[in-house]
Amino acid sequence: MKLDFNNTAEPIARLIEEFNKLPGIGPKSAQRLTYHLLQSPQEKSEELAKAILSLKQDLSLCPVCFNITDVNPCSLCSDSGRDHTKICVVEDPADILPLERTRKFNGVYHVLHGVISPADGIGPDEIKIKELLMRLQDGAVTEIILATNPNTEGEATAMYIHGLVAPLGIQMTRLARGLPYGGDLEYADDVTLSRALEGRQQL
Ligand SMILES: [Zn+2]
Repeated sequence: MKLDFNNTAEPIARLIEEFNKLPGIGPKSAQRLTYHLLQSPQEKSEELAKAILSLKQDLSLCPVCFNITDVNPCSLCSDSGRDHTKICVVEDPADILPLERTRKFNGVYHVLHGVISPADGIGPDEIKIKELLMRLQDGAVTEIILATNPNTEGEATAMYIHGLVAPLGIQMTRLARGLPYGGDLEYADDVTLSRALEGRQQL
């Protein structure tokens, strides 16, 4: 189905178009959502608009671990009940949630915001590797868990970090095999991820 806005009021056409740009929302759903809002009380639209704006306005990156947060530092970094000698390195903020769900890791995180990918012009300086090394300077960290995704770029990035951190004498582990190769941590099921975390292997 193609979007066809003949005889449609401009504000309606515009919202349908915006919804249609979102992942997983086709033209029909976009239309349904738009007319739903049109028929709902004004407050409903205002709440939705506020929630969308707040997503960008009220969130920032934690200056310590680079997780997305609305407090500074983030709730994980400021939690004294967590083990700050263990850092789990992940690609994206979205990877933290599934790892937290396993309840098998009580350390803190470091979000790289990407992986090294020469094909896409992304080198080590484009992701938060320098920032990770800075966190290791005071010698308090004893273990780094490299939890980048199990694919070519994820492996290469883990190996690159290993090369930089190994001379510091910090124990480094990689999530155990068992995660589907080429898969994404974000979508791994809890049991598989728990096992991968518990069975993490020394590098
Ligand atoms: Zn943090």
